[in-house]
Amino acid sequence: MADLKSNDIPLSVFDNVMQQFDEAAQRLNLDQGMIEFLKQPRRALIVKLPIRRDNGQLEVFTGYRVQHSINRGPAKGGVRYHPQVSLDEVMALAAWMTWKCAIVGIPFGGGKGGIKCDPTTMSPHELEHLTRRYTAEIMDIIGPEKDVPAPDVNTNPQVMAWMMDTFSMHARQTTTAVVTGKPIDIGGSLGRVEATGRGVMFSAREAARVKGILFEGATVAIQGFGNVGSMAAKLMYEQGCKIIAVSDVYGAIYCPDGINIHALMEHVANTRRVPGFPHCKELTHDELLSLECDILVPAALENVITSDNADSIKAKIIAEGANGPVTPNADRILDKNGVFVVPDILCNAGGVTVSYFEWVQDRMGYFWEEDDVNQRLERIMVKAFNDVYQMSQEHGATMRIAAFMLAIKRVLDVTLMRGVYS
Ligand code: NAD
Repeated sequence: MADLKSNDIPLSVFDNVMQQFDEAAQRLNLDQGMIEFLKQPRRALIVKLPIRRDNGQLEVFTGYRVQHSINRGPAKGGVRYHPQVSLDEVMALAAWMTWKCAIVGIPFGGGKGGIKCDPTTMSPHELEHLTRRYTAEIMDIIGPEKDVPAPDVNTNPQVMAWMMDTFSMHARQTTTAVVTGKPIDIGGSLGRVEATGRGVMFSAREAARVKGILFEGATVAIQGFGNVGSMAAKLMYEQGCKIIAVSDVYGAIYCPDGINIHALMEHVANTRRVPGFPHCKELTHDELLSLECDILVPAALENVITSDNADSIKAKIIAEGANGPVTPNADRILDKNGVFVVPDILCNAGGVTVSYFEWVQDRMGYFWEEDDVNQRLERIMVKAFNDVYQMSQEHGATMRIAAFMLAIKRVLDVTLMRGVYS
């Protein structure tokens, strides 16, 4: 459920990111022209994708690629396949990528893509055709020095392999650095699959430290058990956290004594769903969000904590694995209630950080050991957390507004250095 504008029209996801930007920009005293330049997307491409389904019927899908900013380097951001994909959502996700890359200090701007489709109803053959046609349609604006896609909701290393191959066929040369999140054998990086979840684990651990909560034994509830949620769950479990609840799109499970995440991963590999895991009570999606716990990790989609349910949150820390799970109105309520929110643009930046490592390795043609990847990731995530925390302490701002302030300042600095070409 979305929050409402003053005229009772629901706030869109893009409205949310604009509000977050405005609140931070106000504190930085930017002039109006610069505000407009930094906050609006640089360009947006809408493409039609005609696909012959396996039953012989032609169906036309809509795809998007948005580049929010290329001031700090090529645009960078995932590609989402979902029935609710819209231009508004992709613009919001692209903007968050700009600020995320600046927070972890990697030389990228922000981009995002998506196709409005339901991949659960499509065969691998249809998904391959859809991916190849999409890549061919956005070919002019992507490339290792232009815009580098990666996986997001319902896309994975196989989809990235198809994108890389399609781009390479048109370019007449293998161009591995055009996408990240690829399979290891064709230029992927060790540690990429776990990277976003690992970054969430580091962020949650640092948040527990500043809040005086012992990470080992901390109780955790996780919404979403895909790439981000399952890896965050596994790595937090391996650090000694007690994962008491997990959900996916089909439902939620709860076990106050703690869930064995390795066994849950095996159950999900066999049954494709979280519910049905033995010795757990089943909960509704809403019940999971309002459980008494130390750390809540929303790792599914946007707008799950709104002004409707923010007051019911009992977690001490929210570590945002997903992009945009908390609306600006909900943020205000959580802040009033003393909930410490580690914002998405910091918390889930581990994925894009290791995507940067992958891009570097592809361009060098030299690949790193997994330990090397993980140690570099930890250093970057801990520094980013401390930079944002310090900003929040200095300015009496929430972690989200502090993260935006830091990121806007970094993008502004390079923009002024480059000058505005007008
Ligand atoms: P995914 O497709 O691998 O997994 C999504 C999970 O959410 C699935 O388990 C699905 O069942 C679950 N889900 C969907 N609707 C739900 C609901 N209403 N309640 C509970 N669970 C629900 O996607 P992902 O790559 O893990 O991405 C999840 C979030 O993390 C998205 O917001 C994405 O933008 C963000 N993110 C992903 C990456 C990445 O590297 N994959 C990086 C940064 C941020």
